Amino acid sequence: MLEVIRLSKKYGKTLAADEISFAVPDGRIGILLGPNGAGKSTVIKSIAGLLRFQGAIRIQGMDARTLDAKRCFAYVPELPYMYDALTVREHIEFITRAYGVEVSEEERNQLLEKFELTDKQEKLGNELSKGMMQKVSICCALVIQPKVILLDEPMVGLDPAAIKELKSVLLELREKGCTILISTHMLEMVKELWDVTFVMDKGHILGTYVRENLGNEDLEELYFSVTGQTAPPEQATPPGQAVQAGPDRR
Ligand code: ATP
Repeated sequence: MLEVIRLSKKYGKTLAADEISFAVPDGRIGILLGPNGAGKSTVIKSIAGLLRFQGAIRIQGMDARTLDAKRCFAYVPELPYMYDALTVREHIEFITRAYGVEVSEEERNQLLEKFELTDKQEKLGNELSKGMMQKVSICCALVIQPKVILLDEPMVGLDPAAIKELKSVLLELREKGCTILISTHMLEMVKELWDVTFVMDKGHILGTYVRENLGNEDLEELYFSVTGQTAPPEQATPPGQAVQAGPDRR
């Protein structure tokens, strides 16, 4: 379980998070949504231990700043960070050693295979494309078998096969009781994943939506109504590009 309790963060005079509280229970996928500047990264970075903040954050009931909490917590940042001098395989090994996790050769190979990294495993961090780095970053988070995992815009930069694989891995983790929090702008990408969505703006949670209580209401419409943003109009086909149905009449 992940609990954020009255989290506040100021940058100078900007109050980026104002007494924010929310929780994602075990075996649930939470989504943090909000327009640019809403405060999502501030919340994410606070949970990941990258910012000083006021309030409390608990991971499996433990203060997020403690070593025991960090041991069962994984974080996939928006921008992957690679060690230039380590190969893909060495990144995975480094993380498992740092966390003191036993992972068999077979499990490692399966993970690399899932994200199509098998033939990239001897490449160095600085020889990878952005999407490959993102995949390695995801593998490093998954290999420690976290109880709580936080992913910041995890689909950005991934190819369609990797997005599909990531979604299926996240659903498997949920089945195993893992707590998952995803920050994203891409509602479409998470529509089959989410259990609870927190809509943020101007440092506050404006709405918390639980899928099973939503009935026929559409999350996207709720998002636009609660944030006051407007959905872009449906795009018309530009003149001259209309598709003509029926047989070719030349
Ligand atoms: P986006 O979707 O654009 O990434 P966000 O929801 O992640 O936005 P934050 O990055 O958390 O929003 O920013 C929340 C507020 O805090 C904004 O007003 C932003 O300008 C401000 N802010 C963020 N980081 C800093 C910083 N390092 N110094 C000063 N102000 C900051």
